[in-house]
Amino acid sequence: MGKYLVVGSGLFGSVFANEAAKRGNSVQVIEKRDHVGGNIYTKEIEGIQVHEYGAHIFHTKMKDIWEYINKFANFNNYINSPIANYKGEIYNLPFNMNTFNKLWGVVTPDEAKEKIEDQRKRIGVQGNPKNLEEQAISLVGTDVYTRLIKGYTEKQWGQSAKELPAFIIRRLPVRFTYDNNYFNDPYQGIPVGGYTQIIDKLLDDDLIDVKLNTDFFDNKDKYLNSDRKIVFTGMIDKFFDYKLGELEYRSLRFNTEVLDEDNYQGNAVVNYTDAETPYTRIIEHKHFEFGKGNKGKTVITREYPQKWSRNNEPYYPINNKKNKRLYSNYVNLARSEYPNVIFGGRLGQYRYYNMDQTIMASLEAVKREFGE
Ligand code: FAD
Ligand code: UDP
Repeated sequence: MGKYLVVGSGLFGSVFANEAAKRGNSVQVIEKRDHVGGNIYTKEIEGIQVHEYGAHIFHTKMKDIWEYINKFANFNNYINSPIANYKGEIYNLPFNMNTFNKLWGVVTPDEAKEKIEDQRKRIGVQGNPKNLEEQAISLVGTDVYTRLIKGYTEKQWGQSAKELPAFIIRRLPVRFTYDNNYFNDPYQGIPVGGYTQIIDKLLDDDLIDVKLNTDFFDNKDKYLNSDRKIVFTGMIDKFFDYKLGELEYRSLRFNTEVLDEDNYQGNAVVNYTDAETPYTRIIEHKHFEFGKGNKGKTVITREYPQKWSRNNEPYYPINNKKNKRLYSNYVNLARSEYPNVIFGGRLGQYRYYNMDQTIMASLEAVKREFGE
């Protein structure tokens, strides 16, 4: 049987660790934070499950991944329907007939399409959109772009929407129906009692040894020279001491407050889409579980985008052309110098993965590793 050292107890590392241990392998997980779970970690405060690293809504098209995750928690039927606050005016998201009606007073899908087409023509976007701005205007027109996209996007990424890849905005549906469901996926929900239980079950104490507060880079050579195969879910560029250059990331600061009131904003997620408000969104955690929690208390988190530097957390990879090229050079280096190390997850694979895609990627790595 094999021996594995998994670096990082996020979703990728925990799924891999679980599958490897179930197959009879010896598995140790090291985690630099003081808790397991990576960015899906949730903690109970005032009877409310607080998403410590930003709102996490599970959604997927993949039935097998939905069945997989449901083995570790019961999911409620929460449907994400964030709203946008633009200078005190409220709009429904994703962009749909409710948004268009509020903005233009249009009532039918044809009226909305006509309005968008008119704005698109005036700007003259032709052919394949080259950047996020062109993509957004060609999907929803200039009014929606100006009020609901430009300010939010440029705060979130710290770059002009003209420099950002178009795919980022294609994450959001555009609908000509009165449907405020943020996702198109057939399966969606929030685990009742939070996400941490999922990781705790995956990292079953009887099967897996977990060491918290342990950074791989404090003893890199020792780990690399041991007889264990390494699954690395940290930053691939840092693994190589940035020797080909830094990949770019976007960081975040979360500011969480406990308030003495029952209901602060009436919705789990409110986006602030103007350029001036320094945060992008406020999460009111109790609404993910339909108001569960102690009476007279609520917990909110503001999310402030931050410039990434080597001292703060890399939350989002910035998958533009330059970084994609650099990442693929790191992959080549990994193949030639460390063919035995498996690089996985949002940071190891430098991908903007949702949770379902992270699980999928981890299960694929398991299949490749165990020849199934
Ligand atoms: P991570 O969760 O980052 O785990 C990596 C782990 O490795 C971390 O615990 C880290 O501390 C540890 N580590 C790193 N380096 C070292 C080291 N040197 N030594 C030891 N340990 C190390 N997905 C959705 O599906 N729905 C959502 O609504 C959603 N919302 C999101 C909101 C935000 C703000 C963010 C940032 C992400 C969101 N995601 C969402 C994505 C989701 O968080 C990821 O898909 C998932 O957490 C990725 O898991 P991972 O294991 O790859 O990475
Ligand atoms: N976005 C926007 N306005 C919004 C919400 C999202 O312009 O009100 C853009 C923004 O560029 C963001 C992208 O759409 O980065 C993807 O949004 P999503 O909610 O998927 O972002 P995530 O939850 O991954 O941060």
